[in-house]
Amino acid sequence: MFQKILIANRGEIALRIQRACRELGIGTVAVHSTADAEAMHVRLADESVCIGPPAAKDSYLNIPAILSAAAITGADAIHPGYGFLSENAGFAEMVEAHGLTFIGPSASHIRMMGDKIAAKSAMASLGVPLVPGSDGALPDLETARAVADKIMYPVLIKAAAGGGGRGMKVAQAPSELEDAFRVARTEARTAFGNDAVYMEKYLDRPRHIELQVFADSHGNVVHFGERDCSLQRRHQKLLEEAGSPAISAAQRDALGATATAALAKLGYRNAGTLEFLYQDGQFAFIEMNTRLQVEHPVTEMVCNVDLVREQIRIAAGAALGYGQEDISFHGHAIECRITAEDPHTFMPTPGRVTAFHAPGGLGVRVDSALYAGYFVPPFYDSMVAKLIVHAPTRLDAINRLRRALDEFAVLGIQTTIPLHRRIVDDRSFQEGDYTIHWLERFVAG
Ligand code: ADP
Repeated sequence: MFQKILIANRGEIALRIQRACRELGIGTVAVHSTADAEAMHVRLADESVCIGPPAAKDSYLNIPAILSAAAITGADAIHPGYGFLSENAGFAEMVEAHGLTFIGPSASHIRMMGDKIAAKSAMASLGVPLVPGSDGALPDLETARAVADKIMYPVLIKAAAGGGGRGMKVAQAPSELEDAFRVARTEARTAFGNDAVYMEKYLDRPRHIELQVFADSHGNVVHFGERDCSLQRRHQKLLEEAGSPAISAAQRDALGATATAALAKLGYRNAGTLEFLYQDGQFAFIEMNTRLQVEHPVTEMVCNVDLVREQIRIAAGAALGYGQEDISFHGHAIECRITAEDPHTFMPTPGRVTAFHAPGGLGVRVDSALYAGYFVPPFYDSMVAKLIVHAPTRLDAINRLRRALDEFAVLGIQTTIPLHRRIVDDRSFQEGDYTIHWLERFVAG
């Protein structure tokens, strides 16, 4: 087992990883920018190293500074969390080249899944169903037209290197295709330095359902069930549930069997999430994330498992030690992503938190690095807390969530807590009757 892990991240996820390390008896090294010197992840770590100025590119994305911090402190592994360097295959390679363990999959799997075209073709060859679309990248507008005519409008142009909902453009009709193609390409080039784009049929009422998978380095692969992440704004998740109100245990088992068989054939290792769109009883793969997800706690609650602990154990070479038949699902869990944003305009609201009171009680979990007096810096992602509730049934979970949101107080800055209160009180949400397009209309209405 590792003696000391460097956590190459900040905020709630850095704390989340520290907690798992501490329970395993592993020392922790925090890294931070100058803007984060007072941050909770720095205060609670065993050791900390300043790795640069506020801008992420100079600190949390600064690979030489992070590797130096690991060398100076004698860390033997690096956990990347989510975002930042977590899906950077070059970083994973450099970590290993320096004699450290990267807590995640192999660099080659990160690279494969980071190219969504390569990911889709790998999954298709392993028998995983896809959203209908182009066979690989679209070289030019003429090819795009031909594919769109075949799969029928509306269509979606997506960046092969895309992420965070960027580089996606819809064309509702042939007249919109040229613009969508051009804008998606330009956006992809600017945002990701790679202008390869592909096409998918734009589904009109899908749910986003993803499957949590874990594999060890001894060939064992299991899944921890699905999460429903259909509540999105601008293709970004706001609220997630485990399990999905829309699928049955038999559907989960079938999807799990297909996915775990595919990953076993790929020789995949560590945590992974396969994302699907689900419509008319059919699952269609869209992408795979090769890291811990923001929404992993809902899975932890229903499966009673510490997924970060599992990531660390697997990275250290341990076998899973259990099979699919040992994994069972209990009750229902919901997570709200709470951001420092105006709940109406979604403009970021950095600033000083004057008072902070987190809800508690049975079945309530708050993953946050906030505290009274903390200054939310303007430089990073605006998510400041995750509120997770767990209860025997979905209805109980909704009632618990309402109660917990009412207790939650963050003063001094605006947050999206009021928006979550409105969602919880909505009839369609309560009935589980929503698709990926629902929240956008709810927010506008
Ligand atoms: P990213 O990596 O940027 O998050 P994804 O491929 O995971 O991109 O898609 C993000 C979201 O965009 C999905 O959860 C879904 O809401 C929407 N989306 C993606 N592909 C389609 C599609 N073919 N039809 C309709 N919506 C889609």
